[in-house]
Amino acid sequence: MKVYNPKNIKEALTYLGGKDTHILAGGTDLIVRIKDRDIYPKSIVNIKMLHLDYIKINGDFIKVGALTSVETLYRSEIINTYAPVLSDAVGKMGSPQIRNLGTIGGNIANASPAADTVPPLFVLNAGITLKSRRGKRAVAIGEFFTGPGENIIERDEFITEVVFKKMESDEVWFFKKLGQRKALTIAKISLAFGGRLSGRKLNEVSIALGAVASTVIYAKRTADFLNSKRLTRDVIDVVSKIIQKEIEPITDIRSTVEYRRKMAGALLKQGLLDIMYSVIARQS
Ligand SMILES: Cc1cc2nc3c(=O)[nH]c(=O)nc-3n(C[C@H](O)[C@H](O)[C@H](O)COP(=O)(O)OP(=O)(O)OC[C@H]3O[C@@H](n4cnc5c(N)ncnc54)[C@H](O)[C@@H]3O)c2cc1C
Repeated sequence: MKVYNPKNIKEALTYLGGKDTHILAGGTDLIVRIKDRDIYPKSIVNIKMLHLDYIKINGDFIKVGALTSVETLYRSEIINTYAPVLSDAVGKMGSPQIRNLGTIGGNIANASPAADTVPPLFVLNAGITLKSRRGKRAVAIGEFFTGPGENIIERDEFITEVVFKKMESDEVWFFKKLGQRKALTIAKISLAFGGRLSGRKLNEVSIALGAVASTVIYAKRTADFLNSKRLTRDVIDVVSKIIQKEIEPITDIRSTVEYRRKMAGALLKQGLLDIMYSVIARQS
């Protein structure tokens, strides 16, 4: 197996394009797959030295380099302030070792339906920047995944950056994840929520779920129901049933259809009740 260690993006791109060429970032997914003999790369392009480890504010937008580690994201004041839904999700990922090595680009490119950064990036409506020798393109995260472990990345390109809009002060959010344990666990189900709140009325609601389908999905019907609704116990009870009808989970090694369906309702209900009670507390 040949390993390339390019010093810049231009050089890295010259090594890409072959069928059995794989990109190596933190290696926390790739090395496991090689060890498990799930893949047999002919060559590996180690992109660690490409200076893509950054978090920048650019006007109303946040730009995150593909090689930014999960731990760096978690410790970032910028992410904590302007993308708290992502901050919360990365706080629930892996062990310290995995968090220091694993990158945002690797988590996205790996295309696991249970990837923890992805539901928040759906809610943030993030754009993924890809580069190749042919040029550069941006793809909305909602159009990025085509199946478990599958995405729209061509052989000659790789992710360089993730871009999303800053969240504003009237935005409410939550990220919930259930796994086998409380920590160091892959999601049986995860749910990210974002929306704008005016008084108790919700708008621009976006809900994304992990580990309930072959890719992370939007729960669009559920979000549409909540738009323009005032948050009350009745509305929350109804919407927690709507989401259970909207999703079509499967039973697999991690969980069952029934559990995932029920928990989708329960996680949404819990998050919305928290928002409602904090509004009531502020108003009283
Ligand atoms: C013990 C353990 C615990 C874990 N816990 C969690 C968890 O709680 N939540 C979670 O979501 N994940 C978890 N993971 C999975 C993994 O750590 C994450 O998905 C991590 O973010 C992957 O990033 P990486 O840089 O290590 O990717 P790598 O392993 O380097 O790469 C993963 C895949 O993406 C490709 N790739 C990497 N970077 C790019 C790029 N910039 N452009 C194009 N393709 C690229 C690689 O070719 C490979 O196919 C865990 C893994 C382990 C081993």
